[in-house]
Amino acid sequence: MESMNEAARVLNGVEIAAAIKAEVAAEVRTLKAKGISPGLTVVLVGHVPASEIYVRSKVKASGELGIGSEMLTPPESVTTEEMLALIAELNARDEVDGILIQLPLPKHVDTRRLLEAVSPEKDVDGFHPINAGRLQSGRPALEPCTPAGIMEILRRSNLPVAGQHAVVLGRSDIVGKPIAMMMLNAHATVTVCHSKTVDIGRYTRDADILVAAIGRPGFVTADMVKAGATLIDVGINRVTNVGDVERFFPGDTTRAKQFAERGSTLVGDIDPAAFRKSGAFTPVPGGVGALTIAMLMHNTVKAAKARRGRA
Ligand code: NAP
Repeated sequence: MESMNEAARVLNGVEIAAAIKAEVAAEVRTLKAKGISPGLTVVLVGHVPASEIYVRSKVKASGELGIGSEMLTPPESVTTEEMLALIAELNARDEVDGILIQLPLPKHVDTRRLLEAVSPEKDVDGFHPINAGRLQSGRPALEPCTPAGIMEILRRSNLPVAGQHAVVLGRSDIVGKPIAMMMLNAHATVTVCHSKTVDIGRYTRDADILVAAIGRPGFVTADMVKAGATLIDVGINRVTNVGDVERFFPGDTTRAKQFAERGSTLVGDIDPAAFRKSGAFTPVPGGVGALTIAMLMHNTVKAAKARRGRA
């Protein structure tokens, strides 16, 4: 029988994101008083419904915080060369502080080349190798939004990182690698696991902080975590099978109702049963996911200050 900790603390990403957005809005007002109006340009190629939703949320959040935003929508047929020309134009425009190329791009476009063409000073997604290198060497950088959001959750919840054993599941350039680097920079002892790791539970059971970013619903089960650990669930998985809903959310009438209405519900990479054994955890939804746009806004203002706000 697993020991249950019904007092596990919920790390509310929505509240933390709101606090960050309020701070960013205040910074925008200060910058505007100095004549600097931060601006974000989002480039959305073709018609990918999920991307369209994300981009709309980014543009909406910009407006709410007083950040200028512009959305460019090249057609699906756009070539790498045409995109490079567009990025060069945006790099040269002084009022553009942040350039965000919404991924995924069509297969015929060279995504890596385009991401490397974005000026590192305007790389608000933090995907440019220069920013990745700066992060790795502990220098000031524009950092990828999702892992930066995780660090904000920990910091603002007064959860210590220094000296802790942080175990990261996943090694993507967007989440796994940068969060491992940020944890290391914050003096954690870091273990990174991936699809070739043998016996993942051996590592997760020793984690003081466990970050799961693999995209597998409920992969981390209660027997894989240490009682009292901090669980950070990055995964966003849509489950459409009633059996999965009953397995992950037994007796949860809210989820059952939601599933009945929508035919799906979201579950992270951590089985909710493991949350009850933790000291603190980020729920899905309403945890890490809530921070990503707030950190994009933060990065846009950071980029504006670094490039134009020296005076
Ligand atoms: P990704 O690029 O697909 O990378 C997945 C990583 O997980 C890879 O490193 C892979 O290992 C590893 N992995 C896959 N299956 C595994 C298994 N069974 N055991 C151990 N490791 C395994 O994914 P991502 O972009 O990092 O995203 C991960 C999850 O986070 C997804 O659910 C995504 O939707 C979510 N996400 C959320 C946000 C947000 O909250 N705003 C942002 C980004 C991503 P290999 O390297 O060996 O293949």
